[in-house]
Amino acid sequence: MSENLDLVVLGAGISGLCLAHRVARAGRKVLVLESAAEPGGCFRSQRQPAGFWFEMGAHTLYNSYGSLLAIVDELGLHDRMLTRQKAPFRLLVDGKLRSISSQLSLSELFLSAWHVFTERKQGRTVAEYYGKLVGRKNWTRVFAPLFAAVPSQPTDSFPAEILFKKRPRRKDIPRSFTFAGGIQTLTDRIAAGPGITVQTNAKARTLARRDGGFVVEIDGGDRVVARRLALALPAPEAAGLLAPFAPEVAAALARIQVAKIESVGVVAEARQVALPRLAGIVPVDDTFFSVVTRDVVPDEHLRAFTFHFRAGVSLDERIARICAVTGLGRDQFAYVATHATSLPSLSLGHAGLTEEIDRHLPASGLYITGNYFGGLAIEDCSLRSAKEANRALAELV
Ligand SMILES: Cc1cc2nc3c(=O)[nH]c(=O)nc-3n(C[C@H](O)[C@H](O)[C@H](O)COP(=O)(O)OP(=O)(O)OC[C@H]3O[C@@H](n4cnc5c(N)ncnc54)[C@H](O)[C@@H]3O)c2cc1C
Repeated sequence: MSENLDLVVLGAGISGLCLAHRVARAGRKVLVLESAAEPGGCFRSQRQPAGFWFEMGAHTLYNSYGSLLAIVDELGLHDRMLTRQKAPFRLLVDGKLRSISSQLSLSELFLSAWHVFTERKQGRTVAEYYGKLVGRKNWTRVFAPLFAAVPSQPTDSFPAEILFKKRPRRKDIPRSFTFAGGIQTLTDRIAAGPGITVQTNAKARTLARRDGGFVVEIDGGDRVVARRLALALPAPEAAGLLAPFAPEVAAALARIQVAKIESVGVVAEARQVALPRLAGIVPVDDTFFSVVTRDVVPDEHLRAFTFHFRAGVSLDERIARICAVTGLGRDQFAYVATHATSLPSLSLGHAGLTEEIDRHLPASGLYITGNYFGGLAIEDCSLRSAKEANRALAELV
């Protein structure tokens, strides 16, 4: 395959595509290799022939995602933006939907909230920091489940500073939004941009160095040669590929744990669903961490519910749980989809691991991006990819 590629990117999730976009816009030739049948990674908008879509993965973009919005501007995607309408989140407690406020101990909240003035996020876990701010009982009964719903795993031992960040908001953009056709419209459009070729069903199997560049062997035996190589993969996958020639970087990546998420989305006719209009459901202790609905972009005829389950629950058990929560029978599902993915499980000391990775990257010809640098949010991915794209462009001259 072509020897005159400037950059090969492994992984066509939002991280890999943001990096590819920025390098290609500077006139460089970029090939993105993706193991799945379509680009997107955690962006998975399940589209139906009649035009209905629902999200199996990421679902919400915010007007505080400034780095990502710069790409949206460059792609001219504003005409496809859809405002997400307001709808409530509910807690699922003992099989019943409850408002969040009804489950809070206001006296405990009142007695604990002053800690916001004295507590520091740095060096504290999410449970230590937020537990102090809201009180232990409120933390266990309400906030721990709500926080776990964000990355579909318990966040108690995550570093406190990594989850929620204050970022400037753009006033010309809706506060939270998606796109017509779902969030994957964004990754589809980046992937189709000039200077970028995305090869799907192309899983990188091995990597090697050759003549100051890299050779990527793809499942099936094809080889790709590039001057520079970027990895935008889950950390364990990147660690395995880099181990033969970048052992220090591989060792740091191998220490980043991931949680597997097994999602099931169901669609039913709106008139058959008794559940009130909801943005999502968060259970207090269950086999799933959250339910995300399509109700924030309402459809006249159909409703969709995506349940994000912990790994290891059989499909039959998952469907049974979905029936119990939605009140629907299996024969009432017009459509069922499944999708498995993973997200990093970060712990205290994580910043030391990313610093260790960054120490070995300059002048290596290697660039690494993903959702385990600044944080898991899409904007964190975009910011890291911008940093690596700038480094690649400076080193490619
Ligand atoms: C259910 C869910 C909901 C979320 N909701 C939101 C949200 O609303 N807002 C928000 O800001 N964030 C959200 N997130 C987080 C955010 O979506 C992710 O952190 C982000 O999309 C990750 O992008 P990525 O490109 O780093 O990784 P991924 O999307 O995981 O992409 C990695 C890609 O690499 C490919 N790959 C793996 N191995 C190989 C290989 N050997 N060769 C080639 N390709 C390979 C994979 O197939 C995948 O496409 C959500 C995440 C999940 C799972």
